[in-house]
Amino acid sequence: MDTETVLEHFRATGALLEGHFELSSGLHSDRYFQCALVLCEPWRAEALARAFAAKVETEVDVVVGPAMGAVVWAHEVGRALGKRALFTERKDGVMSLRRGFGFRPGERVLLVEDVLTTGGSAREVIEVVEAHGAQVVACGCLVNRSGKNPFADLGLPLTELVRLEVQTWEPSACPRCAEGSPAVKPGSRTVATGGGA
Ligand SMILES: [Zn+2]
Repeated sequence: MDTETVLEHFRATGALLEGHFELSSGLHSDRYFQCALVLCEPWRAEALARAFAAKVETEVDVVVGPAMGAVVWAHEVGRALGKRALFTERKDGVMSLRRGFGFRPGERVLLVEDVLTTGGSAREVIEVVEAHGAQVVACGCLVNRSGKNPFADLGLPLTELVRLEVQTWEPSACPRCAEGSPAVKPGSRTVATGGGA
């Protein structure tokens, strides 16, 4: 599936937003991918996950993604690969594996994100997986906004369905904040204070 076809799915569902956003990483940007709006149409999620799975070259046993954003995506990728799909979640701020989820010793894990920005949450997932006796052997995402493979230093390959570089700023350097507009946290209706502005 080429980039334009992927973007057609995003545009058709209003999942490509423009404005002033505070990302989960704390950085600000003027565009945001609300993947949930694509993935909530299961036929689109299935088509995207199949296209993604076809690009994964590493043999894996299980797919894992961090909640909430990657829950549906991990599930669809697991379906496309014929592997089970788990998710991690934060408990008192700490990334954790709950709900009875676990790994057999040495299982090979594909870590997936829906939108990859800094890879910060993903690194926490890697620690959780290792603490449970399995090993992340590859990473992947639906949209890579980072412009690179943020896991290259860990020697992990990255599969991405589409790579789109979107400029991000520290709040103190954000031009939209400088204009005085409030940053919105997509996915909630909360209006943030605009960081360091
Ligand atoms: Zn801003």
